[in-house]
Amino acid sequence: MKITNLNPDTDIGASAWAVEIEGHRLLMDAGIHPKREGRASLPLFDLVKKEPMDAIAISHCHHDHVGALPVALRHFPQAHVLMSELSYFLVERVLHNSVNVMKQQRDELGIKDYPLFSHDEVDDIAPLFQGFRYNREVDWAAFHKSRAGAFSPTLEFHDAGHTLGSAGIMVRGQKETLFYTGDVCFHDQTILKSARFDGIKADVLIMETTRGNRELPPGFSREKEIKRLSQAIQQVLNRKGSILIPTFALGRTQEILALLAILMSKGKLNSQPVYIGGLGRVFSEIYDLESHRTHRQHPNLQLHEALNLVVLEKGQAEKMKLGGGRLFVTTAGMMSEHTASHDLALRMIGDKSQAIFFVGYTDPNTPGGCLRAAKHGETFVFSPSGGEVTRCCEIEDFDLTAHANRDEMLDFVGRVGPRTVLLSHGGDDSRDWFETQIHARYPSVKVIQPKPGQRVEA
Ligand SMILES: [Zn+2]
Ligand SMILES: [Zn+2]
Repeated sequence: MKITNLNPDTDIGASAWAVEIEGHRLLMDAGIHPKREGRASLPLFDLVKKEPMDAIAISHCHHDHVGALPVALRHFPQAHVLMSELSYFLVERVLHNSVNVMKQQRDELGIKDYPLFSHDEVDDIAPLFQGFRYNREVDWAAFHKSRAGAFSPTLEFHDAGHTLGSAGIMVRGQKETLFYTGDVCFHDQTILKSARFDGIKADVLIMETTRGNRELPPGFSREKEIKRLSQAIQQVLNRKGSILIPTFALGRTQEILALLAILMSKGKLNSQPVYIGGLGRVFSEIYDLESHRTHRQHPNLQLHEALNLVVLEKGQAEKMKLGGGRLFVTTAGMMSEHTASHDLALRMIGDKSQAIFFVGYTDPNTPGGCLRAAKHGETFVFSPSGGEVTRCCEIEDFDLTAHANRDEMLDFVGRVGPRTVLLSHGGDDSRDWFETQIHARYPSVKVIQPKPGQRVEA
């Protein structure tokens, strides 16, 4: 089979893969690069625009996997769009939110390309979307009448345990098979249970490598991190400081809210309001609504009932009193400008009674990344609009990742038993670690790190 990496960059970037298998064509993911602006953030669709796709399959609804879907459909208007049933409930909200964010960035940062697509366009393409249960085989190429009767490769979504609706994608042809992990988590989170990738075998494996550059410290456990977090929160509240936990609206926010709800119900944290953003509330409601369809823990935990959730109004973050001990779980995770996280952090950084706790990935070149790297008492530039600040507040990191650890990914390669592995969705150091380890442990497996735009015969 032929596989083209359409990610415009070598790092995590924007996920998009063009697959040609036994005469049929499939696009897997159509993401947006979170650090690039305008059209430069799009996958390299031009390389394959003359090769019509029979279908587009989406692994999950994070922007780096789905944010360019309307643009992909301009190139491949006849393609059906397949995703898990749970992603189907999220995808339109995610894309409409993208339009809002892009319009805001056009106005505030003067990025003329934005928005890359409109609300109307999202509405127009929505009828092409189809949601499927996990572990159900779909004849994706047979959707087209011209191909009816001929053999169709199949596609099957497998629960990836990373965020609501996340899936690994199994593609089966007559002669060969491909498995794409998407983003995957092999341990239970507070809400979502671990990936169900049991028994998966494939000739070709495309895998994420997010944590390839990260070795777990000796004695690490998620339970200990949670205990450390709850004690840290209580200490800040005791001194009447406020706590900001910057998170992404989909997935991370709900996991943190569930954790707070459980800590409060056990009396390990005093009950009090939790301030969140509007989009965080939208996705929290979908988590609640779909709780019994989801492979999860605490299926009866309804976030909106268990917690006193208060949505921050626009501009409220700049005015609220912070002295009485408040809890904020707000977007954006990397504290980009013009977000509640950014504006709250700006008020908290210089105040020693306040605390900012990081629970997920921050790119070093974002305001969140700069703050995380700043030492106590250090003066640094937080952001262009925030300017120079001196860090006096408490900053802590808690490792509550929604990605598999590297040793688990390496074991997974052995279970799948592929002839070829394609490494993606990670920095150079992460991919290199996997390449070296796979060569050492599974010497017969061919390892490829496809460059941006590179087509490989896998
Ligand atoms: Zn993701
Ligand atoms: Zn991702």
